[in-house]
Amino acid sequence: KKIIIAIDGYSGCGKSTTAKAVAKALRYTYLDSGAMYRAVTLYFLENHIDTSQPEEIDRSLREIEIEFRHNEADGTQQVYLNGVNVEREVRGMEVSASVSEISKIPQVRATLVEKQRGLGKNKGIVMDGRDIGTVVFPNAELKIFMKADTIIRAERRQRELLEKGQRVSLDKVQENLESRDAQDSGREISPLKKAEDAVELDTSYLDFNEQVLRILELAKE
Ligand code: C5P
Repeated sequence: KKIIIAIDGYSGCGKSTTAKAVAKALRYTYLDSGAMYRAVTLYFLENHIDTSQPEEIDRSLREIEIEFRHNEADGTQQVYLNGVNVEREVRGMEVSASVSEISKIPQVRATLVEKQRGLGKNKGIVMDGRDIGTVVFPNAELKIFMKADTIIRAERRQRELLEKGQRVSLDKVQENLESRDAQDSGREISPLKKAEDAVELDTSYLDFNEQVLRILELAKE
């Protein structure tokens, strides 16, 4: 039976790399809900959307088309905004600095949650985010909640950014992770929190393969 695996948790815990590896092992589809919030944020920044104007937000959301395109050859996937590959831009610090602000907006969440539910229909999926187990798929068969020490998360994220050609100080990376965690946990609508039936995974000192194996074991049960 194909199931839904929801992976939520704090920023920079390695949710997406773990989710990708789990999906690959199970031949499931991996869906990165954060990339969708990032793509909307990029659109809002590029088009100077005034977020105090509800009609402007609604109009923008109608104009935004988000897709994922998979590269079968190397197993990577890229996010497209209105037909343009924005994978690189959405991972940058500029988007990271504003994404929590944008993802608080109720219309933004309603639009993306609906899209996420549609993408997850009738197939085996692994989706990572902040509210997947609590809001998007409250009936997911397996829910994981990931956390890790802030400094360890910051070091990992700094390395990832460097690999993508962005040199950012450790302080700045850590500050961004902490500020997003605070905003994501503190918001009124769909706050980041562990679903009651989620299995908690602290990845501070877990080896990556151990993390993946642990989830695969849980998925078998
Ligand atoms: O997963 P990622 O770190 O790329 O997510 C970026 C931001 O998008 C989060 O800090 C959060 O503000 C928002 N997000 C969300 N709900 C999700 C996924 C991401 O609010 N399901």
